[in-house]
Amino acid sequence: MSTAFFFDELCLWHSTGLAAGVFPVGGWVQPPSGAGHAESPDSKRRLKSLMDVSGLTSRLDVRSARPATRGEILAVHEEAYIDALKAMSDSGGGDAGQNAPFGPGSFEIASLSAGLAIEAVDSVVSGDFANAYALTRPPGHHCLRDLGMGFCLLANIPIAIEAAIARRKLTRIAVIDWDVHHGNGTEAIFYDRPEVLTISLHQEHCFPPGPSGLAAHRGTGPGQGFNLNIPLPAGAGEAAYLHALEAIVGPAVAEYRPELIVVANGMDANALDPLARMLLSAESFRKMTEFVKDLAAGLCDGRLVMIHEGGYSEAYVPFCGHAVVASLAGCDTEVADPMRELFELQQPGEAATRFHRSWIDDLRRELGVG
Ligand code: ZN
Repeated sequence: MSTAFFFDELCLWHSTGLAAGVFPVGGWVQPPSGAGHAESPDSKRRLKSLMDVSGLTSRLDVRSARPATRGEILAVHEEAYIDALKAMSDSGGGDAGQNAPFGPGSFEIASLSAGLAIEAVDSVVSGDFANAYALTRPPGHHCLRDLGMGFCLLANIPIAIEAAIARRKLTRIAVIDWDVHHGNGTEAIFYDRPEVLTISLHQEHCFPPGPSGLAAHRGTGPGQGFNLNIPLPAGAGEAAYLHALEAIVGPAVAEYRPELIVVANGMDANALDPLARMLLSAESFRKMTEFVKDLAAGLCDGRLVMIHEGGYSEAYVPFCGHAVVASLAGCDTEVADPMRELFELQQPGEAATRFHRSWIDDLRRELGVG
């Protein structure tokens, strides 16, 4: 069985408007000459281009998908939110809530992005593919039921999971979100639900602002204990992430015994990202993908779906994403990471590594894992 790669050029046509990084143009902010907004299509387009040129694409089963239906979207989102989003999209665009700008037609593109996630999950649960990657855009993990947030218009992963629960009768799904920002939307949507174990590794106090992503937030009601936050200090690198995966994520997911593992694959914890302060390399993402692949192999017949989230370095996300997809598909390629040597030199030293390790061990005890 092979790896499926869900992609649609139209997702790259979603517009986030005129901005320099995350600053809207105006006042002291000069209009940019380049791509402009941090959430530009280029990090994703260059990933797909690199996969095409390296030959990786030809070793995958590449497919598009139908857009998510209104019914599938309504399984997660409030009707009033969907109607307002659609009306704004039809009349030229706007902001879906908090820092979620979009242009004309983005409602249909966001529905397609959610559709890629739905079909990626379904293709693996049905047994058609060993595992799958969905190059979704716009991303989804900050989006709440009634509010867009942080470049996210629709909650792609929750929509895909609800569809799988409805269609395939799944009862235990683990979501591992290693986007550098807290996966607050996915957390909120499943906060009272034991059918979905939500785990977020993130840089503490990064995004959203306020008390988000705290270790004390463990779920509520029947969902109590089924939400796990792993806030990491700024400056964490590969050793910290791998230790967090091995010491906390692995045991927690193993205890949960999921039928499917979904990874929210944000790559903005890479060392070149403009919107965070972590130190991962493309090789780190390869190792992390190997980890979740092994985890899925041991727990749920390898059923693993990776859904694209953040990652804003147009130059480096392609290398991180290429490493992830190649690892997922078990393909060796000749693509070399141009930053590897430098980033290995720049990893935290011994003292910082000890600090990160004890931080994670303290967190493991606080969370009662392992
Ligand atoms: Zn992010």
